[in-house]
Formats: sequence, structure tokens, C-alpha cells
Amino acid sequence: MDLFNNNKNGKKAGQDKRGRGVKKHSLKKPFFVNAISAILIFLVIITLYSIIADNTSSVKEIPISQVASDISAGSVESITVKGDNLEIKYVGSEEKKIAKKEDGTALSDTLSNYGVKAEKIAAVKIEIKNPSGIGYWIINLAPFLAPILFIFIFIWFLSRQVKGAGMQAFTFGQSKARMILPSDKKQKVTFADVAGAKEAKEELSEIVDFLKNPKKFLEIGARIPKGILLMGAPGTGKTLLARAVAGEAGVAFFSISGSEFVEMFVGVGASRVRDLFKMAKQAAPSIVFVDEIDAVGRVRGAGLGGGNDEREQTLNQILVEMDGFEPNEKVIVMAATNRPDVLDSALLRPGRFDRRVTIDLPDRNDREEILKIHARAKQFAEDVNFSVIAERTPGFSGADLYSLMNEGAILAARENRKKISQYDLIRSIEKVMLGPERKSHILSKKEKEITAYHEGGHAIIASALPYSDPVHKVSIISRGRAAGYTLKLPIEDKRLQSQREFLDDIAVSLGGYVTEKMMFGDLTTGSSNDLQVATALARDMVTKYGMSERMGPMAFEGAGGRAVYGRGLEDKEYSEKVGAMIDDEVSKIMNEAFKKSEDIIIKNRDALDAIAKRLIEAETIEKDEFEKIIIAHGIIPKKKMDIEHQP
Ligand code: ADP
Ligand code: MG
Ligand code: ZN
Repeated sequence: MDLFNNNKNGKKAGQDKRGRGVKKHSLKKPFFVNAISAILIFLVIITLYSIIADNTSSVKEIPISQVASDISAGSVESITVKGDNLEIKYVGSEEKKIAKKEDGTALSDTLSNYGVKAEKIAAVKIEIKNPSGIGYWIINLAPFLAPILFIFIFIWFLSRQVKGAGMQAFTFGQSKARMILPSDKKQKVTFADVAGAKEAKEELSEIVDFLKNPKKFLEIGARIPKGILLMGAPGTGKTLLARAVAGEAGVAFFSISGSEFVEMFVGVGASRVRDLFKMAKQAAPSIVFVDEIDAVGRVRGAGLGGGNDEREQTLNQILVEMDGFEPNEKVIVMAATNRPDVLDSALLRPGRFDRRVTIDLPDRNDREEILKIHARAKQFAEDVNFSVIAERTPGFSGADLYSLMNEGAILAARENRKKISQYDLIRSIEKVMLGPERKSHILSKKEKEITAYHEGGHAIIASALPYSDPVHKVSIISRGRAAGYTLKLPIEDKRLQSQREFLDDIAVSLGGYVTEKMMFGDLTTGSSNDLQVATALARDMVTKYGMSERMGPMAFEGAGGRAVYGRGLEDKEYSEKVGAMIDDEVSKIMNEAFKKSEDIIIKNRDALDAIAKRLIEAETIEKDEFEKIIIAHGIIPKKKMDIEHQP
């Protein structure tokens, strides 16, 4: 969610961005277009000018000496003086002639200089008109103004061209931070908007307390934490919580994303950091929030290419700024990451991000609370039961739940209903999990049969193995990239996974592959994702969790590799020989799982046939029907444990 730009700098940044966007679309064409239109405008001005000038010259112009002699001859009836221009009307003639007198001298002086007698001048009716008409000015000034005007227009067009780039160059180092002021009630978020995350909120309420009441802490000599690192999976509400802290404390909130620091030019990130902290100090007490800090805060010194330098400088600047805080500065830095494992240890040192707050995926009760928060502005039918939805969504993050509610509302609106029903929400669960159904993706008869057996195989093995999650739904309607899917849901939220569960999961993943091979004596590409998932899991068992007899209690792969001084990033921490052993172990696990799957399919062939047949007919089998079919063929479905007994 993008925060709104409120401050001067923020606005500039926003415009900057927009300006750049426009420039992107209009880089080649407009220069010529603009140049051509500038020339066109110039031509129009010239034409206009010449028309006006022509107008005057279409009247016959005569020299002033002629006028003088005409007056002496008495043939002039009247003269109209407009500035230095004379309009002469002759006796008995409608035609007018024009003449010019000398600059700045009176007409009578000019005439008497030409030797016209005073009484002759008196006989002519002389009318003096104020030369203030617009036409007069245009005629007089156009020769000077036109080129100036043209130059200005040209410069204006050019500057419009350059503005995007030029302004960018000037505002470059300026922070792109978004700011939310405490006075902004609309965007205010408080702890009440964040469901669950109880420990995190407790931990953070201390920070709120400090921001509200810094004196209390400073007087007693307490050292106030400078940096708080929020860690948690994507969508668990880290950004939301950081905003809530600012909202609770009623302080200004500056937020910037780590990736925004990383620009093409080295040094820009660092100057942005400087700017951001300057702004924050001016607005103190305040919170500086660096989202996705892993984008700049990765382990340094790995020495990979130029972009790295920039990250390093930015990170150094953040550290310098944090070290430079006086204890009474009342600026607290919060940062969020979902990869705490790759962060540079300098960030985690005391005096920097020494407070670490972990935000877990919500458990069942939290999920219900989150659903209720996002239900606030929506209309629901009587039958809606959030507790059931919460139960069916283990592993969903806050953001997933938010989008579930939104999908539900969209479904209801699309069917022109005023209220969201339970069925809308249930359908949304699958949509969020698997992507939208692709009903238009028609399978041929043969493909349908293969898919039905493939999915049936997954489902039968999942039901037969004791440690796998029970089947909620089997379908051969394609969703996202999958031709069909078998939806398994854990009976309860899990924090830990066991070796036995992993082994059963691998066997279930291979279920489709095994079944295709047995039933059709052939394989399709439909199993590729299954194989990838299963192999990755088997490898993790061996290299990360010590779940292989032969390799023993050792971890062979650190998360995200490790930096080796002077040698860059090295992700292998073992010899070739050990590598070969790992491969052997992975392949052993896979082959055992294959055998296990095969045995189950052979033993439960009847059940598989029944499921596949039903799938071809109905395309989707829900949990109740599925269980009926397998019970009829002698498989006992796993019972739901008492969910209320969760910690
Ligand atoms: P993160 O920064 O951890 O990736 P966000 O804070 O951006 O996640 O969360 C995305 C959205 O998910 C939030 O705007 C909010 O609507 C919803 N959300 C996430 N966690 C919660 C929660 N605990 N309570 C209420 N809503 C939540
Ligand atoms: Mg976020
Ligand atoms: Zn499959």
C-alpha cells in the first residue's frame, strides 16, 4: 500500500516520478514535434505581422516633402496624426495617403521647416490621435518582439524537454520518502487495526511509550533503542505495524523502501539517506521506516559488481546516521525484512537494530481477528462464519486474508448481490491459494483421463499415509499453471515439521507421477512441478535439517550462501565428495518415496479408479464426497483433532 505524499519533499518526489514516467513515453517523437510546432508558431507570428504591415502599406505612402508642398498648394483637407504617422485626406478625394514625419518633432514644426506658411497650416484640419491602439503597439513592437518571443518559446520547449532529466538531476539526492503526519487522520493506523501479533505489539508499545514520553526514560538514564527490526514473512503486517506505532504515538512517519535507495548512480542512495534523516530530525519526534532493508543491508564485502558499491555506501550512511543520533534526538528507526538471515551483522550490532521483533504468520484465532478487521466496511449475509474461514486458511498471511475478503466482495458484486455470502468466501480461499480457475482451458478426453488419475493418485496417497495432510478437494479444473489440483489442508497450524511428515509429503508429491506411469505406461509434463517440489524438499532434509542417516547431524547449506573474504559469495561449504554423497542421499529418499507411493496405488487401485471416474464426470470432488468414496473402498480418512486445544 502506498502511503500518500504529504510533505513538500514527498510531493516533489512524486512529481519527479510522474515526470519521468511521461518522459519515458515521449522521448523520441516530441522533440521533433515540439521543434516543428515552435517553427509553426514562429511562421504564424511572421504572417500575422506581415498582414498587419501590408494593411498599412496598401495605402499609398508619400514623402513628407510632398505633404508640405500639397499643403502649400491648398489641396489637403485634413491630417490625422498618430504618433509619427500622418494620414492625409485631400480635398475632393476619398482616398487617404499616409506619410511619416520626423521623429519627435511637432508636425507644425516639420511643416514650417519645409517652408509651409503658417496660415496654410491653419487651413488644414489637424487631428491628433493618441497612438494607444493595440494595433499601433503591435505594429511598432512586433519587429522587436517577434524574435524575442520566438526565442522564449524555443527555450520553453527545450526546457520542457530537459525538465524531466534536468530536474531529476537536481532532486536526485533528495529523499523519496513518503511522510505521514500525525495530523493526518485519514491515514492514521493504530494497534486496533492490527489483529493478532500480540507479542510484537507488546514489544512495540514500549517504543510508543518512549515517543510519547521521552522525558520519563531519559531522566532515569535509560538508553533508548534506536533501531527496531521487524522480521516476518511477506504480508504479515510489518509495514502496517510500523505505521501503527507512529499512529499510536502520534508522531511523524517517514517511510522509504530499501530498493528505492538503489539507483544507477553511486552515491545517490547515501545522499537520500542523509536527506531522509535530516527531514526526520526536523520533524522529531518521528519514526524513520526503511522497508525491505535487505535490499541494501545484505552482507557486505562480497564484492559482486558495481551495484554492490552503491548498496554498501547506502548501508554505511544508514549506520552513520544511526550512530550520529544523540539520545535526545527522538528519532527511532524501524526497518522491515523477510530475510533477516542475509542481513549484515553490522546492522544487528547493539546501538543499531538491536531490538528485533518477529511477526509470525497468524494462527487460527488471529486469522479470525484479521478477517473481522477487514470485514469492517463490508456487508455480509447471515450465513457468514469467520471462524470456519479462519480454520480453513492455515498458512495464510494477513495480506492473503485481506485479499480473500476482497475477492469475496468482488465475487458477490459480480453476481449483483448486495451481501457477501459464506460461499463467496470459501471460493475466494482457493482463488487466493491457487489463482483463478481457468474454465476455458478445455482438456481433451485423454488429457482429462490422465489428469483425473494424476490428481486421484495424489489424493489417494495423501489419504493413505498417516502423516500427510487430509484432502479437502480434488479437481481437474485447471488453475493458474496447474492442469488440476489436490487441495490438502493441515488439520491444525504447524510451527514445526517432522521428518515423517516430510517423507509422506514427498510420497504424496510423487503420487501423480507414479499413477501416470502405472496406469498409462507413459509420463506427461504435468508432473514437473511435483518433482521439483519433492526434490527440493528431499535436498533440504539432507542438507539443512540433518534428516539423513548417512550424512548425520550436519547442515551443509547456509541460508543464502556465505561471504568468503576476498573470494566473493560462496554457497558450497563442502567438498565434491560430500556433494556426491548428498546427491546419493537425495536420490535414495526420492526412490523410497516412489516405492511407497507405488505400493499404495497398487493396494488401493479400486479407490483410485472410483475417484478418477468421479473426477471425469464431475471435475471437482469436495471433501465430504471424497471421504465417502474412499471409506467405501476401505481407506479411513484422518480425523480432525480438536482444534480448540491449540496453544
Ligand atoms: P508486510 O509489510 O509484512 O509485507 P503489510 O504490512 O504490507 O505486510 O500487510 C499488507 C496488508 O495485509 C495490510 O495492509 C493489511 O491490510 C493486511 N494485514 C497484514 N497483517 C495484518 C494484521 N495483523 N491485521 C490486519 N491486517 C493485516
Ligand atoms: Mg511491507
Ligand atoms: Zn501433481
